[in-house]
Parts: sequence; C-alpha cells; structure tokens
Amino acid sequence: HSAFSHLLQAPEDPILGVTVAFNKDPSPVKLNLGVGAYRTEEGKPLVLNVVRRAEQQLVNDRSRVKEYLPIVGLAEFNKLSAKLIFGADSPAIRENRVTTVQCLSGTGSLRVGGEFLGRHYHQRIIYIPLPTWGNHPKVFTLAGLSVKTYRYYDPATRGLNFQGLLEDLGTAPSGAIVLLHACAHNPTGVDPTLEQWEQIRQLMRSKGLLPFFDSAYQGFASGNLDADAQSVRMFVADGGECLVAQSYAKNMGLYGERVGALSIVCNTADVAGRVESQLKLVIRPMYSNPPIHGASIVAAILKDRDMYNEWTIELKAMADRIISMRHQLFDALHARGTPGDWSHIIKQIGMFTFTGLNSEQVAFMTKEFHIYMTSDGRISMAGLSSTTVAHLADAIHAAVT
Ligand code: PLP
Repeated sequence: HSAFSHLLQAPEDPILGVTVAFNKDPSPVKLNLGVGAYRTEEGKPLVLNVVRRAEQQLVNDRSRVKEYLPIVGLAEFNKLSAKLIFGADSPAIRENRVTTVQCLSGTGSLRVGGEFLGRHYHQRIIYIPLPTWGNHPKVFTLAGLSVKTYRYYDPATRGLNFQGLLEDLGTAPSGAIVLLHACAHNPTGVDPTLEQWEQIRQLMRSKGLLPFFDSAYQGFASGNLDADAQSVRMFVADGGECLVAQSYAKNMGLYGERVGALSIVCNTADVAGRVESQLKLVIRPMYSNPPIHGASIVAAILKDRDMYNEWTIELKAMADRIISMRHQLFDALHARGTPGDWSHIIKQIGMFTFTGLNSEQVAFMTKEFHIYMTSDGRISMAGLSSTTVAHLADAIHAAVT
C-alpha cells in the first residue's frame, strides 16, 4: 500500500503536453508547433553563436568559482538587465529607484513578484488579459492573489478589443494590479499600438492601477530591443511605480538555463531599498539563491560592446525568420484559395499566430496531418520552416473546407 495510492493521474500541462503527444507520434511528417521555442530552418534548436562565445570565455577564466550567489543573484547581471529593459539613460535607474533581483527565468520572476505583492500590497487583485499565457492564472493564484480578467482579444477582428479593455480596466477597483504583456502578446500575437498604450497608461495612472509587465519576448517581436521595450518605458517615464518580469529564454535562447529578472520601480530610492530587503525574505525560503551559469552568460554578453552587437544581429535574424514564415504561410494559403481572411497571420506579432482555428479543427489537423499545436489554435511560427509550410497550409486548408 502506497502512501500516495489515493492520488489521481493529473492531466498533462496544456502546452508542454503537446510535446509529450508529439514525441509519441511515429509519423515522419509530424510537426510540433506547440511549444514556444525557436527552431532553425532545419527544425533544430539554436544555441546563439554569441552564447557559445560567452560560455567559452567563462570556461577559460580559471578564477571563476562555483560559490553561492547572493539571494538577489549576480549584481552585474541585475544592473545590466535593468538597463536593457528600462534604457541606458533611464532616470529611474539613475535615481536608484529600481530594485532588480535575478530569478528563475520569466516564470520565476512572475512568481517572486506575485509572492511579494500577495504579502505586501494592499490590493490583492490582479487583472490578466483574456486570453493569456496559461501559466499566469496559476502563478498568481498560488501567490495568494485573486485573479480577474480584462477583455483583450476580439475573435471577430482577430485584433485588439480596445474598447473592452478600457471598459474593464476602467471598472477595476482602484489599486488593482494589471498584468500587461510588454510586447508580442502570448497567445494572440496582438499588441496595442503606441497610441493605445498611451491611453492605457493614462487610464491606469488615473485609477492608481499597478502595472506588472511580463517581458518574455524583448527583441523577438520587432527584432529591435528598444522598440520592444517602449510600452514599459512609457510607464516608467511618468515617474510612477511598476513591476517587470524579464526572461532571457527566447531572446538569448537560454530556455533551460532559467535566467530572468524581476525589477520593481519605486517612487524613491528609500522605498526601493526596503522593497529589496523584503524580496530577499520572499526568495530565501523558496530556493535560497539563483543559479550562476546562465546569469554569467547574460552578463558577459550585455557588458561587452562587441558581443552585445553580435547578439542583436543574431536576435534580429531569429525575428526576421519568424516574420518570413508568416509571409510564407499567408502566401501558401492564398495560393490554395483557402476560404477566409488570413491577413492576421502577417499582422500578428512575435512567436505565435492565433489562427482562429477551433479545437475540433486542431484535433483534425493532429489526427490527419500529425500537426501538433495547442487546442486554442495557437501555432508557434518559430517551429515552422520553408520545407514544412506547405504541409501546414494543406492541413489548414483541409480543416476549414
Ligand atoms: N510569459 C510569457 C507570456 C511566456 O510566453 C513565457 C514563456 O513561454 C513566459 C512568461 C516564461 O517563460 P520562461 O519561464 O521560460 O522564461
């Protein structure tokens, strides 16, 4: 008799479970468009050249040891991460109003931020967009926050439901936390324009809503690191407070290294210091301190002008390949005369296309074409290549006709 014999089999994670199913399929034409990880034209995972260079440098440096990092992580990494997201000339950084702690990639940064808010913020309500990344509601619920949604995506236009968004944030209780995707919204690929961001900012500041940015795709959306940080920088430029969770999984391809950062921008340096002291109390009993390797890679790249430049070129190449896949898929559907307006494939931004295919059509494509994707119709454009576009277009065509 097991102490755990009463346990039920838990369902697979809706996103990671797609890969589990994919791995079990023996078909030679199978295609995994589920998980959001970059693939080359050959369908292979990519380690950036600049990352290899940085790792080589680390290995060659015999003075490096494996001592514990401080609770807040690698100081140099934290400084450079803040500079990357807020801008080199950010007054908030200059005025020491930003506290940054190294966390376990984007997820860990969201979790630490959530735990901190659950413990120390007076309004324990967080609004997340509908839809959003499936892990958001779980992370924030476990952090003790009450999760509510605001309208975001309009299936009719396959674009932003801006009116609905403004109405929902307009009726949110004052002080509520609002989760915002900094760019390349997952799963919809739909971002507000800069004018819309400005309206969102004004509304949120007038109601005292607290912005919590999830920045998992800086540089991946447009290929430009500064352009993809515009939303965040607008909210910092007004002098108000906010939280930002950064991930280096996608933009440096450091997925499994689990390297990210949580920054909290405060009104004053004094508050920022006290916030940091409390973040340490959140982190210490969770995992004591973060791992050293990934953060060392990031710091090596960010502090060296030559490596930084090489990174921006490799990052742009990844973003460009994804944008090119959008055009190829759109053209392939057009060539087949597939019914419907597919222009959203080229309008949407970032790693994913929210196709508009329903769960039955997705199931059909998996069964008949061995194409794997989440049941909400999201496909990872990064998992596609010139050689597999035709197969996907055939499947979509068959699914909708
Ligand atoms: N936030 C969003 C919107 C994401 O899409 C992801 C990854 O898919 C993450 C956060 C966190 O990823 P990671 O924990 O691997 O950095």
